[in-house]
Amino acid sequence: MATQPSRRGPAIPGRSLPVIDPATGEAFDEAPDQHPDELDAIIGRAHQAWRGWRADPLARTTALLAAADAVEAAGAGLAPLLTREQGKPLAESYAEVARTAARLRYFAVLDPGRRLITDGRPVRSEIRWRPLGPVAAIVPWNFPLQLASAKFAPALAAGNTMVLKPSPFTPLSTRLLGSVLSAALPADVLTIVTGHEPLGARLASHPGIRHVTFTGSAATGRAVAEGAAASLGRVTLELGGNDAAILLEDVDVERIADRLFWAAFRNCGQVCMAVKRVYAPARLHSGVVEALAQRARTAVVGSGLDPGTQLGPVNNAAQLTRVERYTAQALADGARAAAGGHRLERPGYFYAPTVLTEVPPASPVVTEEQFGPVLPVLPYGSLDEAVAAANDTGFGLGGSVWGTDLDRAEEVAGRLECGTAWINHHAELSLAQPFAGVKDSGVGVAGGMWGLYGNLRPFVVHRPEAA
Ligand code: NAD
Repeated sequence: MATQPSRRGPAIPGRSLPVIDPATGEAFDEAPDQHPDELDAIIGRAHQAWRGWRADPLARTTALLAAADAVEAAGAGLAPLLTREQGKPLAESYAEVARTAARLRYFAVLDPGRRLITDGRPVRSEIRWRPLGPVAAIVPWNFPLQLASAKFAPALAAGNTMVLKPSPFTPLSTRLLGSVLSAALPADVLTIVTGHEPLGARLASHPGIRHVTFTGSAATGRAVAEGAAASLGRVTLELGGNDAAILLEDVDVERIADRLFWAAFRNCGQVCMAVKRVYAPARLHSGVVEALAQRARTAVVGSGLDPGTQLGPVNNAAQLTRVERYTAQALADGARAAAGGHRLERPGYFYAPTVLTEVPPASPVVTEEQFGPVLPVLPYGSLDEAVAAANDTGFGLGGSVWGTDLDRAEEVAGRLECGTAWINHHAELSLAQPFAGVKDSGVGVAGGMWGLYGNLRPFVVHRPEAA
């Protein structure tokens, strides 16, 4: 337990949220454990702030650009704190900070525009876009800053105000980010709240909230949608994934192995759109397993603060238990660990990067989302079989196809039932592109102009051409 009160905000006597460093398993600081009853006043202030914030688009642009500069300038404070509570290597934390600033800059100048619609009659309809009001965001622990910015950048640019709740596992860097942003934004335009459940449930179902944008698991997403339904609130849900990578017969294994490995293991596999299953042609299967296993055996695992670390710990004890459970089940089902297959005997939540072969296709490590540093590699006979297996999941976030003939790869990618299909890489996103999962992977669209429209409502002025 931390003995010092948090340096990032007032600790409330008797109500605090201990924050654990996953590299040690020890609490190192705390955040306020706010009571859900506090939300009424917070959302009331967000409503007041909305009047001014929505009124002046130019002032918003100026403030959001200043906010981006402030985030960049605060990188040396934000990144180590993010690594401390989340576990990821420091370079990845800096990349998250940079992405947060870039997203603010992108949305600060994105203009939804106006559009005229004519249909042959002597009338015209002009579509303008208006903000929604105070909106809520709830985010998970795998990319606390990046995912927070994916919520607040488009929402604030659209003219909404926001109340944002980070995961109880990673509240500190988001609170620090909130205080950095408060230097550039008017009061109550963005409020960070931290605490245990039912804080998120109360936020999602609060009648003063016009839109809930949630990133997290499908199970919690369903609860959020149910809560928001009470006040007929709009929801955007970005949920889990079980992305497949299909390797084609002409793939150059050595050429793609590094990219494929890191597409599965970056951030310890705790990425919604990580590669979570690999399908390799039977002829190439053992070579693919060995190429990935060799990288798993040599990846440098350690504290994210140590220079040279490539893979940090799993973020929390429950997630580590989940990873252990999926792997143990797969091994019991007849799988073999070509690398790893066990946790590391040291303090903290470290798990050996694991490549599994001979995995029965019905094993939960294949059919569900493991969300950890464990990758099953399965052989296939025909391409139709591989595509059917890739699509045989309740999720539909992303997928990828790897080969030398790009036209052929693109044709196969077009058969994947998901929101984004990549060729020869995975999980790379541009700020300008739409991001939307299908099936249990989500509802609504984030990213680019589509993400901005998700935070706006159309307002139509309909007038005759002549009086
Ligand atoms: P989670 O669903 O357990 O928690 C997400 C957030 O919801 C946290 O802030 C949590 O405190 C809050 N929460 C918990 N119960 C709630 C309730 N009843 N009402 C409202 N809020 C509640 O998810 P997690 O374990 O933090 O994150 C991992 C999951 O997130 C994985 O499934 C991953 O795939 C998914 N994810 C999806 C995306 C995407 O963009 N699609 C991105 C990152 C992570």
